[in-house]
Amino acid sequence: MPMSPEFKNRLAPILPQIVHKFGTPFHIYDEAGINQTCDELNLAFEKIQGFKEYFAVKALPNPSIMTLLKDKGFGFDCSSIPEITLSRNIGSQGEEIMFTSNNTSSQQFQKALEQNGSILNLDDISLISKLPEIPELICFRYNPGSRRTGNKIIGNPMESKYGVTHDQIVTAYKKARNLGVKRFGIHTMLASNELDYEYMVETADMLLTVIKQIHGTLGIQFDFINIGGGLGIPYTPGTPKFNLSAMALGITRSFEAFKKQNGWTPKLYMESGRFITGPHGVLVTSVINHKATYRNYVGVDTSMSALMRPGMYEAYHHIHIHGKENLTPLKKVDVVGALCENNDKFAVQRDLPATVEGDILVIHDTGAHGHAMGFNYNGQLRPKELLFKKDMGVELIRRAETMDDYFATLNFNPKTMGPI
Ligand SMILES: *Cc1c(COP(=O)(O)O)cnc(C)c1O
Repeated sequence: MPMSPEFKNRLAPILPQIVHKFGTPFHIYDEAGINQTCDELNLAFEKIQGFKEYFAVKALPNPSIMTLLKDKGFGFDCSSIPEITLSRNIGSQGEEIMFTSNNTSSQQFQKALEQNGSILNLDDISLISKLPEIPELICFRYNPGSRRTGNKIIGNPMESKYGVTHDQIVTAYKKARNLGVKRFGIHTMLASNELDYEYMVETADMLLTVIKQIHGTLGIQFDFINIGGGLGIPYTPGTPKFNLSAMALGITRSFEAFKKQNGWTPKLYMESGRFITGPHGVLVTSVINHKATYRNYVGVDTSMSALMRPGMYEAYHHIHIHGKENLTPLKKVDVVGALCENNDKFAVQRDLPATVEGDILVIHDTGAHGHAMGFNYNGQLRPKELLFKKDMGVELIRRAETMDDYFATLNFNPKTMGPI
């Protein structure tokens, strides 16, 4: 099921007023739904001591949403200094922030270590000796090489630029320990939109096996394992939901077995983005044109600059037309934006009821990797973001981009060189 029936039922009665007040296009996020998913996640893993979700900031880097997540005990997984700054600006610090970067510069590490620091998750064995100072805690990103992977977005680990190889991993921790690191974590990220819970249990088992091996060689006890993100959501109608409780049960059993064997256990960290906010956001847009040529087109008042997944991954996003959910007959249409780029389509050959100009289209599951992936190509401006609060109020949490924003980087002090 895409967008939850609860979200849909609460939003539908006031959607025309929201459109009237704020104007389309906008992404709108459901506070109640986000809260519920956070609670489900924390509850599922309650038997694992020290369980913590580090929300992948890149999925929805909005401080209002991040504040909701922080209130649920979440930390933040950041891949850049601006993302770390976002997290710090809402009051997170130190080990509440994980810096999972790659191809990182010393200046970036310096910034990540300032102001109470963050957990550095090193992408390569060479980076440990390049750090401006040696932190007490270090994590390495592990890339197992050959392993069954879920799907095409994540690709084959052997071809992936991420992580420390299996053969390097013991040496990496040895190096870190010899340089004075006192506490250790291990991380991996091998899934993307994965709907098979067993795959995630296997990931946890894989990391438990690796830390056992490292412990055997170096005597290091691990503070945590971080199994990454990549938990899936059902974008297409009829796809079953990810079985979170089965995953949690499987991993809890693995942790209990590890404890029995070894007398200690690490904490469990996760860094999902999509699973937390994906289903709890929609992109609302108005129909502005119809075109009948070799195909039938429905033109809307936003473009792939507000949601790139369909154009980039041919991803399916469910669409309904407000107030016409049960209308027949259906007709095959492409739902398109304004970009000079033929993959600027929210839907291709989709069965939808007939629309008129001014109809409101609701594009589902845009709460993660939606607005955040936006861009300005073709002079397109990114839309606003709204929060649909649990008291049914609505708040603007990011304004739409303006022409001034678009021209902002052309406003600078002249600087030239030469000719030499
Ligand atoms: C993108 C990413 C995530 C989040 O992925 P989701 O599919 O949104 O769960 C987590 N960790 C890392 C390192 C990532 O690159």
